Amino acid sequence: MANIVWHTKLRIHLDLNKDDLGHEEHPGLWDMIYRMDKMYAARGVPVAERDLQCGGVCQDAGVQAPMYLRLRANGRREAVHERREDEERHTVPVSDEHKAYQERILRVATDEGFHGDSEVRTRVGRSWIQTDTLVEGADGLRIGWEVQLSSAGAEGPRSVRARAAKAEKNGITPAWHTDRADYARRNDTHWTRSDNLPAYVIAKTGDLRVVSGFRALDFWHCDIHAVYPCPDGVRRCGRFHATPKPRDVLFDDLVRRTAAGTIVPVQFRVGGTTHRFWVTDTDRERLEDLRSDDTQLPPAQEPDTPAHASRNRPTCKPSLPASNTPDIGQDYPVTHVPAQSAPPVAETAPVHSPADAQPGPHPTLRPTGLPDELIALQQAADDAHLQLQQLDDHEERDQQRRVWFEAAEAVQAAVTRYARSRGLNRYELEKQLRQAVRHPAEL
Ligand SMILES: [Zn+2]
Ligand SMILES: [Zn+2]
Repeated sequence: MANIVWHTKLRIHLDLNKDDLGHEEHPGLWDMIYRMDKMYAARGVPVAERDLQCGGVCQDAGVQAPMYLRLRANGRREAVHERREDEERHTVPVSDEHKAYQERILRVATDEGFHGDSEVRTRVGRSWIQTDTLVEGADGLRIGWEVQLSSAGAEGPRSVRARAAKAEKNGITPAWHTDRADYARRNDTHWTRSDNLPAYVIAKTGDLRVVSGFRALDFWHCDIHAVYPCPDGVRRCGRFHATPKPRDVLFDDLVRRTAAGTIVPVQFRVGGTTHRFWVTDTDRERLEDLRSDDTQLPPAQEPDTPAHASRNRPTCKPSLPASNTPDIGQDYPVTHVPAQSAPPVAETAPVHSPADAQPGPHPTLRPTGLPDELIALQQAADDAHLQLQQLDDHEERDQQRRVWFEAAEAVQAAVTRYARSRGLNRYELEKQLRQAVRHPAEL
């Protein structure tokens, strides 16, 4: 309920605290508007099309929140939000901490070259999806951040599963973040949690750690050497299993990498419970491999960046030495990259000449505007990768994998240096470079 209603056709605010709605120049205003609303309702006109919106908190927040009217038996006039999340906006004032999170998400996303906005309403048929902060990521990815902090009340947000499912169905990956342990334990969406911090800390650019909700998958063989019990309850089944292990991640990396699609949500069933959390895209692919065939170890993916894959064969030991674990931040150096929403035109100018599509010696000046050094390094890394894929012998593969890692590290370092020196967006530059080397014809 709210006390101030905005009439979209008459373009006036109606104050329900006042008998004349604050408009003594229009006698009988309530009766007219109320009867009209009832008539719309009787004719099946959706609330969203009935001219009445919240004119208070929601409007102040830049949100169009549809309302309808009702008259209680005691004669009390009420305006009711159609949607629960609009109603919640009134009971839970947006705290400074909440705003600090919204601003941080937007800042990180923008620095990474992604577009973002707060309090976004996405029209879906006759209703909407309300998103705290929406980040437009790579390849059409849309990440819908919902921040639920301590102030939100012990019982927590309602209908999270329904809201998350609706977002997913409409192309928005929900990303719910909280500072409360009890919310973070829920399985209704893939919650992430940070410690309860004051707004001025959240607003800073320093490390903000996500302490739960991100996991690394450990793939292991269910034999007598295994440390984990067989999840299927059989003593030792001889198949392969995955075990999720908690892993910290920096909040900024989470924002960047969910937008880039290298951190993705998964569902993981244990017994009758579906757990939801975030993993790297590589882990998710391996998990899908495992689900389709658990008689063999899912191959370590041959990802675009070797940092996504563990250099070691998965082990059955519950804890890996730190140096052997895949480093979540490795392919996104934490070093600051100057903000730029898009590379300059000269860097992105498409090339249509089919002659450039031919593989072979690269001309001195690349039509893409990318320096030869980068092209050559990317080419070398891709070649090393290709060779790796063609090897069968275990030892040869190990050796070649090292060659590939080194080549890939070299190109990544060069990309970082070049992006920084030119003030380019690193992510876009890397993407463009791969495109130039791997699909020159599409440029
Ligand atoms: Zn409202
Ligand atoms: Zn087993």
